[in-house]
Amino acid sequence: MEYEELLKNAFEKLPKRSESKNRFIVPEVVVEISGQKTIVKNFGEIASKLRRDPIHVSKYLSRETAAPRSLQGNALSFQGKLSKEIIQRKLEEYVKEFVYCKTCGEPDTKLIKRDRVTIAECEACGAKHPIRSI
Ligand SMILES: [Zn+2]
Repeated sequence: MEYEELLKNAFEKLPKRSESKNRFIVPEVVVEISGQKTIVKNFGEIASKLRRDPIHVSKYLSRETAAPRSLQGNALSFQGKLSKEIIQRKLEEYVKEFVYCKTCGEPDTKLIKRDRVTIAECEACGAKHPIRSI
């Protein structure tokens, strides 16, 4: 009985991989159109949730939407009018390419700069993948 109890406890302490996959959801953008500008009001929170440099994320979104950008504190504003759907879709593409580990599929990567190459290193499985520069 005691042994079984121990076994049960040990099993319960094991990390549940499927759960850790589910815990991560791409944050939803809060968008406001103001004149000829589109403002992502919660951009700072999004970047920190993704554990990415806001400059890196905003550069990607700006390239993908062809809209010049500027970062103002927690907000990211684009020149021109962009729909929330398009920003959300581009953000999801960013996450797919730059956040998820290509080996194990976990979202636990961090970006490391080595010389002129940026590498995504996975904290879950240790895999390293170079990523394209944007
Ligand atoms: Zn991994």
